[in-house]
Amino acid sequence: MMNVKQSVRYRFMSIAVFLTAFILLSLPLGAIEPTPARAFYNTFNDEQEMVLGRQASMETDKQMLILDQSLLAAYLNDLGQKVAAASRRPKIQYTFKIVNTDVVNAFSLPGGFIYVNRGLLDFVQDESELAGVLAHEVGHVVAYHSMNDVARRYWIDQGMQQLKQAGMLDNQQVVDMLQKYGGPILLFTDRKFSREEESEADMLGLYNVIRAGYDPQGMVLALNRLSNFTGNPSLVETLLMNHPLPAERVQALRLELSQLTLPSGLKRDSYEFKAAKLLLSSLPPPPKPKAQPQQ
Ligand SMILES: [Zn+2]
Repeated sequence: MMNVKQSVRYRFMSIAVFLTAFILLSLPLGAIEPTPARAFYNTFNDEQEMVLGRQASMETDKQMLILDQSLLAAYLNDLGQKVAAASRRPKIQYTFKIVNTDVVNAFSLPGGFIYVNRGLLDFVQDESELAGVLAHEVGHVVAYHSMNDVARRYWIDQGMQQLKQAGMLDNQQVVDMLQKYGGPILLFTDRKFSREEESEADMLGLYNVIRAGYDPQGMVLALNRLSNFTGNPSLVETLLMNHPLPAERVQALRLELSQLTLPSGLKRDSYEFKAAKLLLSSLPPPPKPKAQPQQ
C-alpha cells in the first residue's frame, strides 16, 4: 500500500514525465535532417546513375567553357570533396568543375558532377559561403533530384512506346505526349527544381556543411545576398530560375539554425580561399556569353 507521501510523489513524477514528453513532442519539427530516398520509380542503381552522369557531363563540357586553371580547379575539388565526404551520400565519386562565365550559377548532374560558374566564385565572400553553395548542390545529388526526374521521363517514354506497339497510340500522339511529359533527357543545365526539392537540398546542405566543419551562417548569408542582389539582374537570372525562392529559403534555414546547437570551432575562411580569389581576379575576364542554343 502507498502512503500519502508516496502517492503525492508518484503523482508528481507522472506529471513530470507527461510534461517532459509533451515538451519534447511539441518542439518544432524543423530541426531534423531529411533522410532522402530514391523515388519508387527510380530503378537505376548508383553505377547506372554515374554512367549517365558521365555522359551528361561530357555533353556539358562541350557546350560550356570549362575554366582551364589547374590551381583553381584543385582548390574547388579539394573543398568539394571535403563537403561531399560529409554528405549523406559519400560513396559516389564527385567531380567539381568551374565554368568560365560571369553568370552567378551552380548546377549538378546525376552521378555527382557539380559545376560552379566563375561568377559564383566572384560572388562568395568566404570559404564557408562557397562550402554552403557546394553543399546545396551536393544535396540535390544526395536526394536523387535529377535522377528521379530522368527515371520518371524514362518510364513515361517506355510506357508510350508500349502503348504505341499495342496500337493504342499513333506516332503523333506519342510525340505530343513525350513533349508534354518527357522531352530530351539531358536538359540538366536548365533544370528548374521544385520548391520541395530546393528546401530539401537546403536542409541537407545545412547539416552537411556543419559536419564538414564550416559555419552554416555562410550558406545563409550567401543566399540572403543573392535574394537582395542589386547588380546586373541577368547575372543571377539563371540561378534564380534553377533554384527558386531565395527569400523563403533564407527564413527556413534561419529557423532550422535557431533550433540547433552548433559545435565550436566551425570554420569561416581560409588562406587557400583568399589565394584562390586573388588568382581568379588576376585572370583575363571570361569571354562574352554566346547566344544560347535554341531548344
Ligand atoms: Zn538548388
